[in-house]
Amino acid sequence: MTPQEKLADEAGRIAALQRYDILDTPAEGAFDKITALVRNLVGVPISAVSLIDTDRQWFKSLDGLDATETDRKVAFCDHAIRQAEPLVVPDAQLDPRFRDNPLVTGDPGIRSYAGVPLRTPDGYNIGSLCAVDTRLRDFGPEQVAILSGLAPIVVEQMELRLLAERDGLSGALTRRAFVAEVDKHIALYIRHKRPAALIMLDIDHFKRVNDSHGHGAGDRVIEAVSALCRSQSRPSDSLGRLGGEEFGLLLPETSESEAMVVAHRLRDAVERFEISHQPPLHVTASFGVAVIGHGRLNSHAWIAAADAALYDAKRGGRNAVILAPQDTLRAA
Ligand code: GH3
Ligand code: MG
Ligand code: MG
Repeated sequence: MTPQEKLADEAGRIAALQRYDILDTPAEGAFDKITALVRNLVGVPISAVSLIDTDRQWFKSLDGLDATETDRKVAFCDHAIRQAEPLVVPDAQLDPRFRDNPLVTGDPGIRSYAGVPLRTPDGYNIGSLCAVDTRLRDFGPEQVAILSGLAPIVVEQMELRLLAERDGLSGALTRRAFVAEVDKHIALYIRHKRPAALIMLDIDHFKRVNDSHGHGAGDRVIEAVSALCRSQSRPSDSLGRLGGEEFGLLLPETSESEAMVVAHRLRDAVERFEISHQPPLHVTASFGVAVIGHGRLNSHAWIAAADAALYDAKRGGRNAVILAPQDTLRAA
């Protein structure tokens, strides 16, 4: 397909957008920093990372206005994605494409616009990074260059988000993303003494599942255990897949005794759960619990403490929960 044909391939464009699994997700700092930068560097009151869905434009980030989406019909960015080059509209009131647009005639009263398409690595324009002004103004080459420089960074951020955050099989955070969460809670503990607990779990004799029932059955077990972990935890907890069949569950604002209750509940749930397969499968898992505290103020040390307790649970016969003892001498 030529670049020109790609611009007209709406089905391919929607598929490229959906691949990012980003529509209707919460705000993320990286995108908000970019729109804040656009406002400052270009000197506009409004900037957006706008994604063009089938019938709407949805804002991954919108700085300077309070909205989450608009109809696609009124979206300036829908015009930006139809061309390879940046779209500059010096005066929307004089432009036949926009002069009757309700965003021009009514709130917020858009007068001038500059948008650069967000082009995916395979050549689809899924949205745009734009600068919007309610006053008449001219966007010069320097300002368009700022947008053109930042637009590929938005797309790279979307790629990174896809690659780095979630594991495809289980939907859990990848090791890297999970460790970043752990680091965040260590910082919260150091600054504000916010408690947190870490539960590590590893499926028992998982190799036997693969060996007896095949790798596909093993994958179903991994999916089922991660789904159980999520259903047994709070939305504010983070689940990470740290290895093949090893998971970490980070519990903010949770004491040692509360974390032990969660771990025991999970152990019971895994033991009771029947994984649909022919024949149905049953597994157990072993758990190590470590609360944040002295000697655990970097992610490596904290995870290692929970891991050591998990290893004790394995050595003790599996299907068990072991608590990592705290460094009481130093803590006192
Ligand atoms: P233990 O009770 O001591 O944990 O024994 P185990 O058999 O669970 O532990 P071990 O670490 O020896 O085996 C883990 C196996 O998990 C080895 C590896 O082939 C398998 N594995 C790793 N990732 C995946 C995956 O994504 N899918 C499947 N099906 N198997 C995986
Ligand atoms: Mg195992
Ligand atoms: Mg293992």
